[in-house]
Amino acid sequence: MGKGTVPSWLPHTICSMSAARKWVYLFKEGSASMRDLLGGKGAGAAEMTRAGMPVPPGFTITTEACREYYAHGGKLPEGLWKQVTDALVTLEKQARKRFRDPRNPLLVSVRSGAKFSMPGMMDTVLNLGLNDVTTRALAARAGDERFALDARRRFIQMFGKTVKGIDGQRFEAALTAAKKRAGVKTDPELSPVRLRSLVKRYLAIYRDATGHEFPTDPAEQLRDAIEAVFRSWNTPRAITYRRMERIPDDLGTAVNVQMMVFGNMGPTSGTGVAFTRNPITGRKELYGDYLANAQGEDVVAGVRDTEPIKALKRHLPKVYAQFERYGRKLEKHYRDVQDLEFTVERGKLYMLQTRAAKRTGEAAVNIAVDMVGEHLITEREAVARIEPRQLEQLLFPRIAPGAKAQPIARGVPASPGAATGEAVFDADTAAEWGKSGKSVILVRVETNPNDVHGMVEAKGILTQTGGTASHAALVARGMGRPCIVGASKVAVDEDQRSFSVDGTTVKQGEEITIDGTTGDVFVGRVPTIEARSLSKHRAASAILGWADETRRLQVWANADYPRDARKALENGAQGVGLCRTEHMFMEEDRLPIVQAMIMATTTREREKQLARLLPIQRGDFRGILSVMAGLPVVIRLIDPPLHEFLPNREDLVRDTATLRATGKSPDRLKRLEKILARVEELHEANPMLGLRGVRLSVLFPEITRMQVRAIMEAACDLRKRNVDARPEIMIPLVGTLAELHAVHAELKPVAQLVQKEKGVRVPYKFGTMIEIPRAALTAGEIAKEAEFFSFGTNDLTQTTFGFSRDDAERHFIVNYLEHKILPRNPFETIDEDGVGRLMALAVKEGRKTRRRLEVGICGEHGGDPDSIRLCHKLGLNYVSCSPFRVPVARLAAAQAAIGDSASTK
Ligand code: ADP
Ligand code: MG
Ligand code: MG
Repeated sequence: MGKGTVPSWLPHTICSMSAARKWVYLFKEGSASMRDLLGGKGAGAAEMTRAGMPVPPGFTITTEACREYYAHGGKLPEGLWKQVTDALVTLEKQARKRFRDPRNPLLVSVRSGAKFSMPGMMDTVLNLGLNDVTTRALAARAGDERFALDARRRFIQMFGKTVKGIDGQRFEAALTAAKKRAGVKTDPELSPVRLRSLVKRYLAIYRDATGHEFPTDPAEQLRDAIEAVFRSWNTPRAITYRRMERIPDDLGTAVNVQMMVFGNMGPTSGTGVAFTRNPITGRKELYGDYLANAQGEDVVAGVRDTEPIKALKRHLPKVYAQFERYGRKLEKHYRDVQDLEFTVERGKLYMLQTRAAKRTGEAAVNIAVDMVGEHLITEREAVARIEPRQLEQLLFPRIAPGAKAQPIARGVPASPGAATGEAVFDADTAAEWGKSGKSVILVRVETNPNDVHGMVEAKGILTQTGGTASHAALVARGMGRPCIVGASKVAVDEDQRSFSVDGTTVKQGEEITIDGTTGDVFVGRVPTIEARSLSKHRAASAILGWADETRRLQVWANADYPRDARKALENGAQGVGLCRTEHMFMEEDRLPIVQAMIMATTTREREKQLARLLPIQRGDFRGILSVMAGLPVVIRLIDPPLHEFLPNREDLVRDTATLRATGKSPDRLKRLEKILARVEELHEANPMLGLRGVRLSVLFPEITRMQVRAIMEAACDLRKRNVDARPEIMIPLVGTLAELHAVHAELKPVAQLVQKEKGVRVPYKFGTMIEIPRAALTAGEIAKEAEFFSFGTNDLTQTTFGFSRDDAERHFIVNYLEHKILPRNPFETIDEDGVGRLMALAVKEGRKTRRRLEVGICGEHGGDPDSIRLCHKLGLNYVSCSPFRVPVARLAAAQAAIGDSASTK
């Protein structure tokens, strides 16, 4: 940057002359690759400038400066202001206008722009540089006093609100009052006379709220605005958004200072936002909104009804053609769909922003596949680009086609999926009810950034106003919440907490259903269906096919029943990583047998009952093994404590007391008393750490002997019929080699005996879960006996942290997360530093003993993309997750492989 002279209007005291780091970059000095330093908006403006597009000149203050600002307790870094004033001098030359000039004044916007876009989360001040003198000059040059005064009042409002924290309602109230006095409906109808007194009123509000006059000096205005942008990085709403989007808190925001252009200078002016492809369906078409004779924030705020972008073609065909061309060029350049902001000032187009467009899951997969077809990106890039949760969106429910319900209104479909919930009309209630487990739909006239905490907890969002680029639409799309905006027939009364449509009124707490895919609003609960299966979705299948070619990790599924296994197969599972056998004891026809078995006092009696269970279990295993023919099925032997199969203690105490009191059915009383005695015998202070898992198998080996017999008989029968059954027998909760050894010694002879009886050989494996820290620590030993490991990361997390999950999630995890004592909920994403280290050790030591040891994970974490990345890194053979999450896991496993090869390049 050139040295430049200090403009005379600058007070010298605030010019630090010391040499310092480069804090300021002109747009023409930056590029797309400088996103870390310049933020997304700054890098985009720089890149468009380089490409020769008409971007109003400006400069960017770096994110580094913002970090420095916070590091020094909220002081502008050394040398920053000097560099800003130097850049201003250049900007004045480029703009051929000057700050403070009484004839041709320069006005600027001061905009935040972090590395990752946080739409509407931080502050922007427009029209900065206005005072009495420059407002007159602006009016004279534009030949439009109304326009200049309107710009002035907007500036005072934005500056007062965002820089000085004055309640925006105060300005809004004054504006509404002025319109009422003038007897007009819209802002542009206010006459210059009315506006002049409104400006006075605004200045008085400012004075009253701050105790100071509004700063007339543009330099002072600028300095305050820059600091305000820095501060806006840490407002609660920005922090909430970052937490939701997992954006690090320490990146800081850049500040963009840019010459103002005006879309509100008459009919050949206007402003708009547009996506280079449809962000809802993915269709290749310009998609967005245009508003003639308006300033940019009017479009986003949804205060006036916009026209579709095609309208620009009618108003200004040449501008439309030029904009279309830039859109194509930017899309090609960034090789991704762009979300563009532009303004037309008296027939001249200005590009104000370009950024990667937020999109629905449906659009994301369709666009990625189309772009591969257009040779814009590679298959690998297409796979890397789809966020797992976008794929999840395709799995969202829709309104059942046969449902007879009639929608009461239709709005703009802004984020797909159907949701039913109780209507609530403010974010706090939505947050509160949502957290307490209720399904709620947040209904608002429009949303703003202060509503985000409620949107997070809502199942869906419905707004009366706004278009596809409104706040509600953007945020809901980002979060994957069903959302409808601009349902103008829905008259929302936020004070009364109700809305009405054609005389039907819905009050807070009443159920409604919305379909964000179609835009339909229904009263009451409407039946929904799951999305069509991914395998029938052309683009999604293509993406998943490419993912399969890329990933190293296999993806298996947890399935207790044949129908789960079929669903898993349909979604591409390569095995069953966990088949739990508890349910086989729980079902109605079996429970009495199981209870009799538990009540038995001798082994002989127990075995008699177990013999009755054997054929039932054999049938269960045959079902799942035959669905999964040719693929491994890991069957876990009994895990929960026995008392779970008996009636609960409180009920027994109550029932026996009643029976004793009434003296009726002495037989039943006797039986219940016996059961109660057994329940009390089995009672444990801490069942999670008590008699369960392998410990049960050691104490009651006859139970697991029966289970292994059932498994092997089923497998032998299938093999005889040429069905390739591949059971893997898994022992839960092992902590020592001796435990596993004892159980194995009991079970191996059974497995061998059955094969001999049936006269077929079944290749089967015998292995263990690793879910106790001691098992991980002694994995080298355990692998002598175990042919495979499967990490049970739920129990492993509980036992590593010493947390019981239910208690932790109920009582303190939220607090821990809020205070950053835990960075993430370890029950959702594996705690890499603790649990992850135990896993790493177990894999390493286990494979030292048994080179080809098969290692997988069967906890819920197996479906969490970040945990899958860890599993890839640790060299696991497979992850196993719920059948429903298999597609997501396939994608995440591929992305882990891609990330891996990218980081070793
Ligand atoms: P956000 O990050 O919330 O999109 P922006 O900083 O992009 O906020 O700006 C808010 C609005 O002001 C946008 O509509 C934008 O187009 C408009 N705007 C910003 N800078 C200028 C400018 N120099 N001239 C005209 N309009 C502008
Ligand atoms: Mg913007
Ligand atoms: Mg477990």
